[in-house]
Order: sequence, then C-alpha cells, then structure tokens
Amino acid sequence: MKESPPAPSDLLEKVTNLAKRRGFIFPSAEIYGGFRSAYDYGPLGVNVLRNVRDAWWRSMVQERSDIVGIEAAILGPPAVWAASGHLDTFTDPLVDCLRCRERWREDKIDGVCPNCGSTNFTASRAFNLMFKTQAGPVEGEGATAYLRPETAQGIFTNFANVLTTMRRKPPFGIAQIGKSFRNEITPQNYVFRTREFEQMEMEYFVPPGDADQWYRYWLETRYQWYLDYGIPDAWLRRHEHAPEDLSHYSRGTTDIEFLFPWGFDELEGVANRGDYDLTQHATHSGVALDYFDPTTHERYTPYVIEPAVGVTRATMAFLLAAYHEDEVAGEVRTVLRLDPRLAPYQVAVLPLSKKAELETVSSELLERLRPHFVCDYDLTQSIGRRYRRQDEIGTPFCVTVDFESENDRAVTVRDRDTTVQERVALDELVAYLAAKVGTRTR
Ligand code: ATP
Repeated sequence: MKESPPAPSDLLEKVTNLAKRRGFIFPSAEIYGGFRSAYDYGPLGVNVLRNVRDAWWRSMVQERSDIVGIEAAILGPPAVWAASGHLDTFTDPLVDCLRCRERWREDKIDGVCPNCGSTNFTASRAFNLMFKTQAGPVEGEGATAYLRPETAQGIFTNFANVLTTMRRKPPFGIAQIGKSFRNEITPQNYVFRTREFEQMEMEYFVPPGDADQWYRYWLETRYQWYLDYGIPDAWLRRHEHAPEDLSHYSRGTTDIEFLFPWGFDELEGVANRGDYDLTQHATHSGVALDYFDPTTHERYTPYVIEPAVGVTRATMAFLLAAYHEDEVAGEVRTVLRLDPRLAPYQVAVLPLSKKAELETVSSELLERLRPHFVCDYDLTQSIGRRYRRQDEIGTPFCVTVDFESENDRAVTVRDRDTTVQERVALDELVAYLAAKVGTRTR
C-alpha cells in the first residue's frame, strides 16, 4: 500500500466535503441559505460525537475513583457571571474596517482586513462574548439571563454540594460535558470556532502546594489521551502561554495544539486557575467555599487545575488526522483511519448478494452483533464498492456473509487498514471483534 497524504491546503476541503456527502456534518438551516457558523451533525456525525464524549468520560470519570460528574444548567443569573469576571472581562478586541465595514477580532488579523486588504480600522473596543437573554415574561434587570460561555462555572457553584453529598476531599475533580455559547466576532474554520459548541471540562481541586505537580500531571495525561486515540505525535505540541497572555483567572496555561490545515492551533487548554473562582464565588455569594482538613485541622481554599476541550473541535481534529488516501489493488481509495472506538460504525454487515438464503444468516449476525457494536447493514451494489464506502466513513471491520456461511457457520472479516481478510466462526465473532475494537489497530 502506498501512502499519499493530501497537501494540508486541500485537506480541510476534502474533509468538509466528505463530512457533508456522507452525513457527518451539515451547514445548519441549509434550506434557508444556512446560518453563519452553525452546523448540524448528521447520522454519522452524532455517532462520532457520542464516541468522543464517551471516550473522554470513560477516561476522566468511569476509570477513576477521584472524579465525579455533574450536568449544570445552561441558563444562569447575572450574579454568577459578575463573580466569575465574565461580565467585565470576557471580551475580545473588536475593530471595524474603515473601507469595507467588516468587523474583525483585532488579535486574529495582523492589521490587514482579510476581506479587502485595507489597513485602516476604527480604534479597538472590548466586545463581550456572552449571549444575553430574558428569562420569563418580565422585562428588566431581574429577568436577565446569560447562556453560559463555559461549563466551568456550573462546577464551581456546585463545589460545596458535591463536597458534602459525595464526601470528597482534595485532590478530587468534577467533570462536565455540555453546550457553551460565545458570540464570537469571527467564527471561522468550519467547526473549529462556532458560536454554539460543546465542551468537556474538568475542574480538579487540590491543596495549593500541590497545584504545580497536578498541572503537569493533567497536561501529560490529556496529551497522552490524544495519542491513545490515534492522533500522531507530530500533529500535536504544547504551547505554554507567556505571563502577559494569561486569562484573568490563570496562574499558568498550556495549550495542547493540533496541526490544523492553517497551522498549529489550540485544541485543548490546561490551566492552573489557582483559588480565583472559589474565592470569587465565596465573596459574591457569602457562602464558604473552602475545605477543612480534619487531619491537619487546616482550612483552605483549594486550587483548581482545569483541562478544557471542545467536543466539536476535538471531533474535527480526529477527522482531519484520520483522513488518508492510499492505493489498494491499483486504485486510489479514501479511508478514514479513525480509532475503532471513535468510528461511526464499528462493523458493517455485507451479504455478498441479495439472495434470500443469505438474509437468514445476516439477520442472525446482526442480532448477535448489535448489543456490542454500532452496525451498518448494506446490500446495494458490488462488494468492492461497498468496501470503499465503508472505508470512506471509517468502518474498521466489514463482515461479509457468503454462500458458504450457512454451511460452515463462518463469515469473512475484512480489516479497513490492512484490507486483509480472515475467516471467523460465527460463534467467535463477537469476541474476535471486541478484542480488535478495544485497542488501536494501527
Ligand atoms: P480562543 O482564545 O481561541 O477564543 P479560548 O482560549 O478562550 O479560545 P477556552 O476558553 O480555553 O478557549 O476554551 C476551552 C476549549 O473549548 C478550547 O480549547 C476549544 O477546544 C473549545 N472552544 C472554545 N471556544 C470555542 C468555539 N468558539 N468553538 C468551538 N470550540 C471552542
């Protein structure tokens, strides 16, 4: 097999086209001309999103005894955002081009209007990125609500609830997955930066003296997670923020950057938030948000280490890294080499022909496989065409039912990456596939 990775310049276009054509990602409200920066996830896209969330939750919550999950409300009162600092400081610098009137985020355009090339702009002003709305039918200050711009604050406001109900002591973490909203000035680059997106955030509460050690631990743990799910090391790097670039709450931030088609850019942020958030909420709410250590008799406000990543942005990275074009039997094929745990389908069942005698075994097979794997079933067109279609959407295993299957109680399993085929007994198939899906196959 010969590898010919496409040039980074058309990788984005190729993945965008494939995602649309094969039901991963559609522009939102497309029949009305679309809605800038909003995307809908189709039948295959939702499978990948769910797998990405599950993979994160498994490693952050299920496989650990020190982290629990919550799901907090998206709508929140102004008090939360006053305390967190978002009302005052969650802003981006906004400029207007004086020639074409387009608006831009000043720190992203290097002084040149991407639309018309002009270098003349208005003075920059701070634009708050939060979506403000009204809760209930009453107009006025009392009913103002905000859509959360990050999931983290719902974790901080529940710190005391979790501490007491779950009988936790630092170090421990609270994880959350959910939608966040930011009125981005220039949403761009497909699903990389959208106004509505989904985040996976975990706040890890530690004794202040241990914060540096945990900051390094989480940076390395999260970096390794991407490697484990198939992103090549050469496509990742760490970028530590200079002290003058830190957010208002941060004592140290390192981004895990991914090699997007336009260059390395943030995939995940790992930050040492110090005691900023708990102290702010304790002061503003009047409720103590600290921890009393019964062994040392010390009361302290824990420091917080936060790994935060976008589900949608991570999904984009996995799709980009998985996209390959290679040559099989003299023909170019497109293949998504997604980790089997992230692929939209793990198994495709392909009867060799539409003849009724193959249907009985195929139905029995699907019944056996479906409790364990997400399966596709396809009996249209030639087997070669069907293999290509499954390769293109990243299905790691195709199971072919043929005219022998009923007699020898066996089927042929084809591996997406090597295209090698193996005869496997029906009774052993679930165990055979489970062993392969559970680990990386490349
Ligand atoms: P930027 O500076 O690029 O606007 P940020 O540093 O403010 O982003 P964080 O607040 O650290 O971003 O958000 C944590 C993670 O959430 C990011 O690493 C990214 O994966 C995701 N994320 C943030 N904003 C968006 C967005 N508009 N669209 C998609 N994902 C986003």
